[in-house]
Amino acid sequence: MAPFAVCSMCRKPIQLGSKYWRCSVSTCNSGRIKLMFCSVSCWDAHLPTARHRNASAIEEVAQAQPPK
Ligand SMILES: [Zn+2]
Ligand SMILES: [Zn+2]
Repeated sequence: MAPFAVCSMCRKPIQLGSKYWRCSVSTCNSGRIKLMFCSVSCWDAHLPTARHRNASAIEEVAQAQPPK
């Protein structure tokens, strides 16, 4: 089975049912590329590249999206 996603930082696969972290900043969650991180440390590595003023990591569980 294909993984849910890959980490935007280290490219590690994020499996369905496992936890991942996303960025609280809206521009990181909109558009074609939605950033997802396998760990808080990968999200942390994203901060200097994104230059956020206020950002936090939001914990999520990878769940299958219903087909549209
Ligand atoms: Zn971000
Ligand atoms: Zn990662």
